Amino acid sequence: MSNAVRTTKPIAGPGAGIESFFFKFGDHRVRLAANKKSPIKVIGSGSDITLIKDGKPIVSGRLEAALSHCPEQAYLTISGRCVYDCKFCPVPSLAGEVKGQEEIFQIVQESWKTGHLRAISLTSGVESSVEDEAKRAVSIVSALRARYDVPIGVSIYPTKTSSADLKQAGATEIKYNVETMDPKIFAKVCQNLSLEHVLKSLEKAVPIFGKNRVSSNFIQGLGESDECVLAGVATLTEMGVIPILRPISPHPLRRRDIDVERPSADRLLRLSRETKKILEAHDLRPDLAEPI
Ligand code: SF4
Repeated sequence: MSNAVRTTKPIAGPGAGIESFFFKFGDHRVRLAANKKSPIKVIGSGSDITLIKDGKPIVSGRLEAALSHCPEQAYLTISGRCVYDCKFCPVPSLAGEVKGQEEIFQIVQESWKTGHLRAISLTSGVESSVEDEAKRAVSIVSALRARYDVPIGVSIYPTKTSSADLKQAGATEIKYNVETMDPKIFAKVCQNLSLEHVLKSLEKAVPIFGKNRVSSNFIQGLGESDECVLAGVATLTEMGVIPILRPISPHPLRRRDIDVERPSADRLLRLSRETKKILEAHDLRPDLAEPI
């Protein structure tokens, strides 16, 4: 990859700590991880680039600058550390900083000054307890809402009142992650967390936030079957929740804790196409979702 490509490094989620950049072609936007060993290379000048493989062009488009980890969005991690230890997640090992309100205001204001800020996304690990983390998110959303008239999305581990409290504070969308819909795998990889609680919280969030405003990350490649993925997608969409399928990205910091491989492109495409059909059957529109 050319040195001229501006990259970003998320500090939460499965890709935390991995350098990446944003590429737009047609109506599509993808975040690509930068990897010197990749058979795919980037050529081009300025923001117009082409991805090539074996010397042949695959697709042309343009680079998009990230405001704060994302084009047109201020994407912020409140607590970059976590007392839980989901085996695929690098956040507990990264033990990053916990941002205060002033730091958050500064980052959002920098993005605002560019004139391109369309949304704010907040995510968080759990610094001490899920209740304290939810309270912190509520107070940050409330303070941001008083200053910025853009959609605000929040992704945290739910509490009994987090949906009502965040909505009241001014959040537009909510994301509670199931991670996997296989209960046995969940119990193994997300010890001390509850899939049942996440599902109940998602169900309760839909009437509070409304249609196309509640979503859930759903990782593929933790050992689950295709049937489990599609049954899980059906369960979530029946509740009115948008499942966001994400392939596992084996993280260097978790190599000793979990043995996983990124699923094949064929499997990802097949499951994504089936998911699209299920979403359409439930009249759910991820393209209408705003920030997260
Ligand atoms: S709850 Fe699990 S997935 Fe979320 S930040 Fe903590 S360790 Fe990572």
